[in-house]
Amino acid sequence: MNCLVTGGAGFIGSHLCDRLLDAGHRVICLDNLCTGARENVAHLIEHERFVFLERDVSYPERYREDVRERLDFVFHLASPASPVGYLKMPIETALANSAGTWATLEVAHEHGARYLLASTSEVYGEPLEHPQRETYWGNVHPNGLRSCNDESKRFAEALSVSYRRHRGTEVRIVRIFNTYGPRSDPDDGRVVPNFVTQALRGEPITVYGDGTQTRSLCFVSDMVEGILRAAFTPGTAGDVFNLGNPNEYTVLEYAQLIKKLSGSSAPVVFRPFLSEDDPSRRRPDITKARAVLGWQPSVPLVEGLEETLRWFRTRLRLGA
Ligand code: UDP
Repeated sequence: MNCLVTGGAGFIGSHLCDRLLDAGHRVICLDNLCTGARENVAHLIEHERFVFLERDVSYPERYREDVRERLDFVFHLASPASPVGYLKMPIETALANSAGTWATLEVAHEHGARYLLASTSEVYGEPLEHPQRETYWGNVHPNGLRSCNDESKRFAEALSVSYRRHRGTEVRIVRIFNTYGPRSDPDDGRVVPNFVTQALRGEPITVYGDGTQTRSLCFVSDMVEGILRAAFTPGTAGDVFNLGNPNEYTVLEYAQLIKKLSGSSAPVVFRPFLSEDDPSRRRPDITKARAVLGWQPSVPLVEGLEETLRWFRTRLRLGA
């Protein structure tokens, strides 16, 4: 199969490229490296079924001609995804999810390809329903600091299902909840990269707020398995799936666990929130993914964090 993976040099995207190549597919990876990294795909550059295009997904005239072979599948993951990333690049983020989604849907339509939109748990905003099911419409600030991401992803969902309804494009949507693991950018400000980096360097572990806000963390290999099942399970066109780990902990608990697993003596300190609309809790209801895709996360938190710590030690060139 010929697959286009936008955001293929990103954290989740690069693991997705690996898995698609392992399964024998051809991969065109499109990434402008605004938050992705060349190192994430450096091991694939020589691969005979892999092509890397350093392009911005929001400007199709810059890559349309380069996609010569007929595509069978388009995975649209390109967009800054961490709060630090999209707060730094709000316009690029809003465009990747609007213009970029439009452009890739057009490509999919033209090629008769199937399509997967990587949406986000942020479409639920500050959720009034807990845990969040796919049927929950969300509680989102339309012009808050996070709106460049959450509102543009909501638009991306609306545009994708419009292509499905009016053009018959075979679209499915996955709402990705917090994900961690090797290749996440140490500087993207997310909770796990921050805590792991701080713990390994012996710097203060910065808990924002009082640390009672919750998140549910999914290891990246589980996430990619869920994405592949949503993409390739027959009969999923038009569907929306939550993908994430339903085990919920407070941010303070993550700080303490990472400190313990790393053997760090770094202090845990409290700092103000980065944005006023930091959701107070988040946990996916994955009943639908379990039933339709036969999927659920399998990597235990401690195991996933240990593997993440090993990768970060090497990445940061710190001894064990
Ligand atoms: N967080 C924190 N310290 C950090 C980074 C993040 O306390 O150094 C908190 C953040 O305020 C949020 C949670 O951890 O409540 C998850 O943040 P992240 O940026 O990973 O993603 P989000 O779930 O907000 O999109």
